[in-house]
Amino acid sequence: MDRDRIAALRAAPVPPAQHLIDGQSVPASDGGRMDVHSPLDGQVFTSLARGTAQDAEDATAAARRAFEDGRWSGLAPAERKRILFRWAALIEANALELAVLGVRDNGTEIAMALPAEPLSAAQTIRFYAEAVDKIMGEIAPTPPGTLGLIHREPVGVVGAIVPWNFPLMIGAWKLGPALAAGCSVVLKPAETASLALLRLAELAQEAGLPPGVLNVVTGEGATVGQAIALSMDVDVLVFTGSGATGRKLMEASARSNFKRVYLELGGKSPNVVFTDAPDLDEAARVSAFGIFRNSGQVCVAGSRLLVERRIHAEFVEKVAKAAQALTLGDPLDPATGAGAINSERQLAQNLAFVEEARQAGRTVIGGQRIRSDTGGWFMEPTLITDARPEDRVVREEVFGPVLAILPFDTEDEAVRLANDSDYGLASAVWTADLSRAHRMVRRLRAGVVHVNTYGGADITVPLGGVKQSGNGHDRSLHALDKYLDLKTAWIKL
Ligand code: ADP
Repeated sequence: MDRDRIAALRAAPVPPAQHLIDGQSVPASDGGRMDVHSPLDGQVFTSLARGTAQDAEDATAAARRAFEDGRWSGLAPAERKRILFRWAALIEANALELAVLGVRDNGTEIAMALPAEPLSAAQTIRFYAEAVDKIMGEIAPTPPGTLGLIHREPVGVVGAIVPWNFPLMIGAWKLGPALAAGCSVVLKPAETASLALLRLAELAQEAGLPPGVLNVVTGEGATVGQAIALSMDVDVLVFTGSGATGRKLMEASARSNFKRVYLELGGKSPNVVFTDAPDLDEAARVSAFGIFRNSGQVCVAGSRLLVERRIHAEFVEKVAKAAQALTLGDPLDPATGAGAINSERQLAQNLAFVEEARQAGRTVIGGQRIRSDTGGWFMEPTLITDARPEDRVVREEVFGPVLAILPFDTEDEAVRLANDSDYGLASAVWTADLSRAHRMVRRLRAGVVHVNTYGGADITVPLGGVKQSGNGHDRSLHALDKYLDLKTAWIKL
């Protein structure tokens, strides 16, 4: 990575941001603005339009007009594909700029942000662009004298509400398939990670996406997000974020137009290490990475480590060493292994979890705020080595660099502990026993089970949770189904 270029981008002033509605950069209807603090130093470095419910309605109306007049949905699929490809190329050409802007806003270490944010977003857009002219209908095997055609049509206007941890990656998981399907979108980024997404949307216009097809409204979730959720004119709502907000979105759907709501919520993902893991050093290193990358601000983070009792002490030591080996520092230094905590509120929340564990007499390694001299929000990787199943830190998502560790004796006990959770997003099992690996894949209740690794993924495979981790899937061709309706044509011959 080009350090000089990063330094220049870091120092570049960021002009006050506005919404993107109907292809225009516009302020909030009441002129409201909100400060943007950088987690790197706690300082205000720009501001956002503080959107109103009216702004959300204006954006939805623009998206509806764009959808109905066919300026996007009615284009030849090959033309839509060409524009999306151009967009992906522009994202790649501006990758470092997007990554640095994103890091200044949300605090992720740049070594992770560059591949995981703009580059992953470009790959996602391209993946779905390639699918645009391969979405086909079906002919049903109906009785003689009839013809049953099954059309797949874009659902219409999509509301997308996304979080702050990986705004571009997660944003693209929604935008890629929605736009490929021919839908129009109203996007609401998180308050603490809007800037890179706004820039991404500008690049879409530059690539030739017609105005009104992708609208971005910034501001508070309770105002803008709620207005999108309550809109009578949004057909499908896709969301990544907390369970508490997910619940409100489903309620809003029920109170308005029964829009379909697809939720990707939190996790408390179990990472199960058996004595016969092929390489315990590797398991420890990857497990540490699986929880501490992006300071644990990852929905699939392996935040519950279940270790077979015989190797518990030895393995905990290895994970602690791997955590210590992570370079904690300036998120914009390419050598940094774990960056900042997104907000002061999140940092306080993380520290409260640790304090509660300490008060309950648990053994805590780490657990302190660090680098406070920078004015920024940083926390060291934290291990709670003797957590108990009933502890809040074992039951609730922290969304920070905090690992709860529990021992187990048998495979059955490991499964019981692993599945003893309201969540079911990710999981992992480390074992050299092939039969056990397959058994565990079947028995763990989660959307993904990693085997002898943690956290790897690809756009080709789905991501989605069971239980209170959500419904529906991002990534893979299956994600397109959320944005396409089935319509039957029944014809008498
Ligand atoms: P987190 O705890 O990770 O910030 P949230 O669920 O609060 O998770 O935030 C995820 C996204 O949901 C953000 O864009 C946020 O603005 C939005 N949001 C928060 N509250 C609401 C709400 N009541 N209605 C709609 N969107 C909301």
